[in-house]
Amino acid sequence: MTAQERPPTTTDAGVPVAGDEHSLSVGPDGPLLLQDHYLIEQMANFNRERIPERQPHAKGGGAFGRFTTTQDVSAFTRAGVFAPGRETEVLIRFSTVAGERGSPDTWRDPRGFAVKFYTDEGNLDIVGNNTPVFFIRDPMKFQHFIRSQKRRAANNLRDHDMQWDFWTLSPESAHQVTWLMGDRGIPRSWRHMNGYGSHTYMWINADKERFWVKYHFKTDQGIECFTQDEGDQMAAIDTDYHQRDLFEHIEAGEFPSWTLHVQIMPFEDAKTYRYNPFDLTKVWPHADYPLREVGRLTLDRNVTDYHTEMEQAAFEPNNIVAGTGLSPDRMLLARGFSYADAHRARLGVNYRQIPVNSPKAPVHSYSKDGAMRVRNVTDPVYAPNSYGGPRAQPGLTDDGGTWHADGEMVRTAYTLRRDDDDWSQAGTMVREVLDDAARDRLVTNIVGHLLNGVSEPVLLRAFDYWRHVDKDLGDKIEAGVRAKQGEKDPKATAQSNPARSSAQHKA
Ligand code: NDP
Repeated sequence: MTAQERPPTTTDAGVPVAGDEHSLSVGPDGPLLLQDHYLIEQMANFNRERIPERQPHAKGGGAFGRFTTTQDVSAFTRAGVFAPGRETEVLIRFSTVAGERGSPDTWRDPRGFAVKFYTDEGNLDIVGNNTPVFFIRDPMKFQHFIRSQKRRAANNLRDHDMQWDFWTLSPESAHQVTWLMGDRGIPRSWRHMNGYGSHTYMWINADKERFWVKYHFKTDQGIECFTQDEGDQMAAIDTDYHQRDLFEHIEAGEFPSWTLHVQIMPFEDAKTYRYNPFDLTKVWPHADYPLREVGRLTLDRNVTDYHTEMEQAAFEPNNIVAGTGLSPDRMLLARGFSYADAHRARLGVNYRQIPVNSPKAPVHSYSKDGAMRVRNVTDPVYAPNSYGGPRAQPGLTDDGGTWHADGEMVRTAYTLRRDDDDWSQAGTMVREVLDDAARDRLVTNIVGHLLNGVSEPVLLRAFDYWRHVDKDLGDKIEAGVRAKQGEKDPKATAQSNPARSSAQHKA
């Protein structure tokens, strides 16, 4: 582009400006003038560039792509997006959970794996993680869990003592913490990890038959992980390694893909299954409910404006289309509120009008006005009406899925099933899934994490916690911590977390 062809700089109102480099002043050495509207616009806009970062999942990135249904699953769902041969545009966002927007991509943490399908029947969002389970099963604990992962009030430091304090007082966390401390706790890249819907969802077929499903996006690149040392080194070299890796591969035409599988449970099985199938801390063993292939998700287009297409991307598990539904999973039901609420708080009530969040399907809602609304309802503005406004057509929806519920109002845990407990599935992973080398790395990772400022009372609970998962594992962890403590300069240990003393522990 020649100098002549370059467009003129304008204000945000499109008015050409007089200069890019100098403010309007009284003489070359005099004061600045208030009527320099362009200078003021630049300063004011700059001051407002940052929007609140997400509370969890602040650091992330992603891309656009397409999902193609390759198998016939119409016996289980009538969702158009899962009709054989259907291709649907998707947006995906990967993220860490605890770190802030500038934090390293390669810290040990679960990774968010959020997918938005722009289907012909409205947006379908599957907002999962790279793990099939989660730390807790009741949303009452979610806020507390995330606070324990973030920063302390007094010194604004992250603190392993509060992380382990929370985990060891919440034994339902054991399965996810085992997963997190294992190899998959630091993926080599976003391309090299699986995504799981984690929750149990519903599918509904054309005959209105209902099924419970779990989504598994299996990476076609293969699982690859960083060791703790590799992750630490990469965090120091390249804070944005995962974001860069994804961007560069897509730019180079090396499009990453995932094959979507589902586990399908007949509706009636849920009543008698040996685990509560809606408990987010449990998997459904593959032998009970094998994986069934559905289709392939491929990422082939980078975002071109991070702020408008990624920082403002809003995923929410209650974006549910006909043929799909929610389930009695308490965490899922709570996320239906909390995600939409977080978007209203961060982006404003009309966040679905930001182009990246807008459906490709036509919108005929009665939502009206509010900050930053750019497309509005026309008359009539109410329903029912006799002036030709939109009218609900129940046949086009399954109303988010329905199931029978009955009982007194109570504040209690799920009723335990035959095989429900907090430790067994974690123990199965340790004993039957990991090999000796992976088990050794698990011990080393946990020992390293515990040696980072965890106080003695919490350490004792942690040893007990791991013995419940697996006796041998717990013994090795205690021996590993004690051996390293012996090697450490006692002054350094005292300094590592001066604000924590045994006297602080009441429980
Ligand atoms: P399977 O032997 O059929 O499945 C074991 C699964 O473990 C594998 O398919 C793989 O999941 C996953 N896995 C392998 N290595 C690791 C690792 N280092 N860290 C975390 N996960 C790993 O047995 P079950 O289905 O009976 O499950 C046994 C245990 O495996 C469970 O208690 C659970 O801890 C874990 N697991 C189970 C999953 C499930 O949905 N059933 C999913 C993931 C883990 P993938 O194929 O998804 O890569």
